[in-house]
Amino acid sequence: MHDLKQYNNFEEVLKAYESFDFESYLQGVSDEDIQSSMKKENLTQFDFLNLISSKAKKYLEPMAQISKRHKIRHFGKVIQLYLPIYVSNYCSSDCEYCGFSKKNKITRKHLSEEELEREAKEIAKSGIKHILLLTGEARKIAGLEYLKMSVRVLKKYFSSISIEVYPLDTHEYKELKDIGVDGLTIYQEVYDRKIYHEVHTSGEKTNYDYRLEAPERGAEAGFRSINVGVLFGLGDIIKEAFYSAIHAKFLMDKHLDSEISLSMPRINKNAGEFAPKYNIDDATYVQVMLAYRLYMPMIGINVSTREKASFRDNLIDIGATKFSAGSKTDVGGYSDIDKSTAQFEISDERSVPVIASMIRSKGYEPVYKDWESL
Ligand code: SF4
Repeated sequence: MHDLKQYNNFEEVLKAYESFDFESYLQGVSDEDIQSSMKKENLTQFDFLNLISSKAKKYLEPMAQISKRHKIRHFGKVIQLYLPIYVSNYCSSDCEYCGFSKKNKITRKHLSEEELEREAKEIAKSGIKHILLLTGEARKIAGLEYLKMSVRVLKKYFSSISIEVYPLDTHEYKELKDIGVDGLTIYQEVYDRKIYHEVHTSGEKTNYDYRLEAPERGAEAGFRSINVGVLFGLGDIIKEAFYSAIHAKFLMDKHLDSEISLSMPRINKNAGEFAPKYNIDDATYVQVMLAYRLYMPMIGINVSTREKASFRDNLIDIGATKFSAGSKTDVGGYSDIDKSTAQFEISDERSVPVIASMIRSKGYEPVYKDWESL
């Protein structure tokens, strides 16, 4: 169980933990265990559990100091900036927590090539060079050919293109990689299989295993960066933090040519009425971020504009490496093409220059471009 490298795929890892008794383990965690985990150079997944235990809450300050050292050693004093572009909000799936769910009566929009070009031009004015392309899960409307058209347009304006779309086959990822996509973001949303099926009630997204294997398919297709994570609020916080951490570690160990990173989204208000069952408070959110960093010193950690401005500012020093800025979550939102409904409400509405100057005020450098695909 200790050595993740013995497993062929992440599904096997999850199976190995099926009967693991988290509660008993966490009850047995002592102060000595936590202090010993903090001192280690190479932490195991059980050290990670020690650090996210409730007993470890009193060690947030020393954990933050270690996390800061790791972050500066591996990333320098920089925060990379990116922007999401939503190109289509049609969706054939129903996810209880998402404003784009098929059942929601919202204004749907799908950008034409011309509209996409307008959006890209508008975003490019901010100086941002890293873009994240998002769609709903609607292969019939925003299929592979549409994605390829979108990538060709975005390539004219941005040096790095990542995608956050429905899971694809390896050869489809490869086709996108070959025309300029270099990063894949795909969250399992919730690793607990039972909850997964309770909140994903219809459509392609009900296929848990196909989604779980997508990061590996992306790495096999040759994407330079793979970003995974959970949507905090759907499942038990400890278990979901644990599974997301070992998923990232498993990918890091197995796919040495891809940079693996984690995102930490938590549920925000959307067009539906979804109330998260497992709220993660700010202190626990910070604790999980610190534990991610101590367990995987080289992991990239993304924090989006779902988080409040003042909260995000404080994460710069302790663990975050990548920020979205000036984001819109509606299709056509940057150039005010016929208004569509947003996926969720943004908490940090500051523009790119304002966020960049806040980053500088903290002694860090905002990075607009650190990659150019050839
Ligand atoms: S999370 Fe994705 S698949 Fe689910 S409803 Fe929203 S856009 Fe569709």
